[in-house]
Amino acid sequence: MDFKGKVAVVTGGGNGIGRAACLGFARHGAKVVVVDRDAEGAEAVAAEIGKKDAVACVADVARAADVRAYVQAALDAFGSIDCFHNNAGIEGRILPTAEYDEAVFDEVMDVNAKGVFLGLRHVLPVMIRQGRGAIVNTASIAGLVGTPAMPAYVASKHAVIGLTKVAAGEVGPLGIRVNAVCPGPIETRMIRGIERQVSPNNPESVQERYSAGIPLRRYGTAEEVANVVLFLCSDLAANVTGAQYAVDGGRTAAPAGVS
Ligand code: NAD
Repeated sequence: MDFKGKVAVVTGGGNGIGRAACLGFARHGAKVVVVDRDAEGAEAVAAEIGKKDAVACVADVARAADVRAYVQAALDAFGSIDCFHNNAGIEGRILPTAEYDEAVFDEVMDVNAKGVFLGLRHVLPVMIRQGRGAIVNTASIAGLVGTPAMPAYVASKHAVIGLTKVAAGEVGPLGIRVNAVCPGPIETRMIRGIERQVSPNNPESVQERYSAGIPLRRYGTAEEVANVVLFLCSDLAANVTGAQYAVDGGRTAAPAGVS
């Protein structure tokens, strides 16, 4: 993979999967725009890459003005957007649909579904003008199956898959590709939060139970997801668009009956 001369924008780049994608893009030669509402995280990742090759941009992906601002910041800093990892997301509550809070539902949909839409809405015109670009939206296996007790998260991630397919059809004729990556449980802050919600007194037991349902019998790492994101953004994936890549240790292909 070679991203020399390319510019990558990564939302949620301050932590977890987005951070790994930022570092991966930089390792393969790209200039990187690290977008996050966590200023400290975004600045730390940009500093790790180096001032010449990365900028941090503090933005809430659910706010159109912030999205316009991170797109403009990328163009001001580096002049183009060649790769876009539309990745920021939140998990919401772990509660059955019959008990779920309306306000949390709205918040999760705002960040995960509308945030991804707004990213596409404001990055696609740049790529259309350039006549090139590749986008990877972070969905989840919750965009493929109905994970119990996560109604907002599941609805939002199914929306991400839908948005991916629509955009892929629209801009494919222009040579712009749009794919989705669907991680299973990944070792990041987010999964630790989910484990604590499921079992506040014994979060480790949740990891054991979840891992038992995965053919590879373990969580994935942020780098393992980032590797697939980089592949999908690279010319190696030149004929791949509108696809959903599961990075889940086989969880959705061959569930072991544990959820
Ligand atoms: P993480 O919490 O480590 O990182 C998420 C990042 O997104 C954080 O830096 C956070 O500040 C940022 N963010 C959240 N809301 C934002 C907003 N409104 N505006 C800007 N930035 C915002 O979690 P992660 O696991 O790296 O999650 C990244 C993506 O991967 C998410 O879309 C998540 O749904 C998805 N995912 C994660 C897992 C998992 O098990 N960790 C599984 C499937 C999908």
